[in-house]
Amino acid sequence: MPSFHSLRVSVTDRCNLRCQYCMGPEGVSWMRPEEILTFEEIARVAAAAVGLGVKKLRITGGEPLVRQGVEDLVAMLAALSGLEDLALTTNGVLLAGKAKGLKAAGLKRVTVSLDTLRPERFEQITGQDRLEQVWAGMEAALAAGLAPLKINVVLLRGQNDDEVLDFVRLAAARRIEVRFIERMPFPAKAAAHEGCGLPVRESEVQAKIEQEFGPLRPIPRENAWSGPARVYAVPGNGGRVGFISPLSEPFCESCGRMRLTPEGKLRACLASETELDLKGPLRAGASQEEIQALLNQALAAKPQQHAAHFASVERAMSRIGG
Ligand code: SAM
Ligand code: SF4
Repeated sequence: MPSFHSLRVSVTDRCNLRCQYCMGPEGVSWMRPEEILTFEEIARVAAAAVGLGVKKLRITGGEPLVRQGVEDLVAMLAALSGLEDLALTTNGVLLAGKAKGLKAAGLKRVTVSLDTLRPERFEQITGQDRLEQVWAGMEAALAAGLAPLKINVVLLRGQNDDEVLDFVRLAAARRIEVRFIERMPFPAKAAAHEGCGLPVRESEVQAKIEQEFGPLRPIPRENAWSGPARVYAVPGNGGRVGFISPLSEPFCESCGRMRLTPEGKLRACLASETELDLKGPLRAGASQEEIQALLNQALAAKPQQHAAHFASVERAMSRIGG
């Protein structure tokens, strides 16, 4: 079993976009505020995790920037001694107004999710006409020094897979890393509704890039908690591309991640519905040692391999924390 090195903390299930592949055709119903962990509760879990050797925390959601005062949580997490990386994944819509404050609170870097560079497609995919705000958000992040900036692109067959080379050129022009992600077929209802189709596989994307730019040069992982992306330098253009391919290149054997959902459930594998409740124990006065024992218990139940489980995942990514 890999060591536990990374915790992804979802701070809300709410979102200001409606990406169909994430929320499904009907959207989702929101959790009540009292169901969601407070910042103090999240910080206690994070401290317990860091005490067990976790090096990296990522704040996610839903859309983390819609949670009021998220900068305060960043400051609480940044103060944990032993932590080496504190990042946040966002759709970028509110980032322009928040980048400076997040940096000042101690955030190191952001990943922006952006599936298309074309305004009309952006609206089709996310349900909102907000591409300009996302651009402004990325500029603000770069200006604030939230670096390195990364962009996550979920490739959707027939919708944005013809933009691969445009993203590679953007990576080179702005010295950012673009990571292509295979769309996972859940929540199951959404996947069925869209007919989901064959995922756009890493091998096809790589072939398309190499045909235009020549062979990609692998860049070694920086450390054990670098995440599951395989990263390459693009010859001749200075750009970097990464691939996160849970379907065609599963990374279960090196996955040292756990997720904390907005309502305080620990989830050791994205693709398994097994969860362990932390909110009850936290609110019943559990000690830090007891929280650590529960983290270890969830870790021990981590499945060895995920691929077969995806079909049964009903919870939307926005409610798990992607
Ligand atoms: N709202 C933020 C955002 O979009 O960056 C953070 C939460 S979102 C759930 C985190 C990541 O999960 C995004 O990059 C999104 O594209 C990805 N995601 C959501 N549903 C997915 C799916 N079915 N397959 C693959 N990636 C998915
Ligand atoms: Fe919202 Fe992120 Fe899900 Fe899109 S991917 S609906 S932005 S939580």
